[in-house]
Amino acid sequence: MMLIETARRALATGPVCDNCLGRLVADRSHGLGNDRRGEALRVGLALADDEPLSAVALSDPADCWVCEGELDRIEWWADQADTTVRGYEFETYQVGTKVPPLLEENDRLLREEAGLDPEAGESMSSELNREIGKRLGELTDATVDFERPDVLAVCDLATDEVSAQINSAFVYGRYRKRERGLPQTEWPCRECNGTGRQRDQVCPGCDGTGYRYDLSVEQLVAPPIQAALDVG
Ligand SMILES: [Zn+2]
Ligand SMILES: [Zn+2]
Repeated sequence: MMLIETARRALATGPVCDNCLGRLVADRSHGLGNDRRGEALRVGLALADDEPLSAVALSDPADCWVCEGELDRIEWWADQADTTVRGYEFETYQVGTKVPPLLEENDRLLREEAGLDPEAGESMSSELNREIGKRLGELTDATVDFERPDVLAVCDLATDEVSAQINSAFVYGRYRKRERGLPQTEWPCRECNGTGRQRDQVCPGCDGTGYRYDLSVEQLVAPPIQAALDVG
């Protein structure tokens, strides 16, 4: 009966979507999403009161006062994240969500009104991370990694923007410089700005290589390391 009371009090606060309703009891059962938990609470309340389902239904999830429709935009967020990370090469990923303080406050208010602990169930950001992450995994064929993902897609609900954080590989090493004329990094030719050409002619400054020096430590060292890390 306690679950039905939770549903009754939560739904008395105004329009609440299935995800926000089900998130209140996210710690109960598993193998189902919060949307189905919420739907079940709604149906349970209709059965307990012997009312038509329409009495407790929400016609448009975008009207939810708790998440202001964000839980209804999971596909959209996943598409945005996919577009943002598309240019990078990665095998593992994770999604992070910046939830505005106003929405976090709504989550807390809903729990208070429903007579629950302020931390009951799951947080909005945790549900968004998981649900957007699941879809992003399907779109990119990458594996989720909570420890150190190659790419972290951060969804900012306040700005509607997704930014990507890339975990680069840093290589530490030492070398002894035994001769002059071998720079550490690639050094583009100044005469042609690294293009190798000047006025449609082969650049005389670099013989068309685009580099001031034929070789650099970076050019020699990077390919075998990339091959060893399997990112090349
Ligand atoms: Zn909601
Ligand atoms: Zn040149």
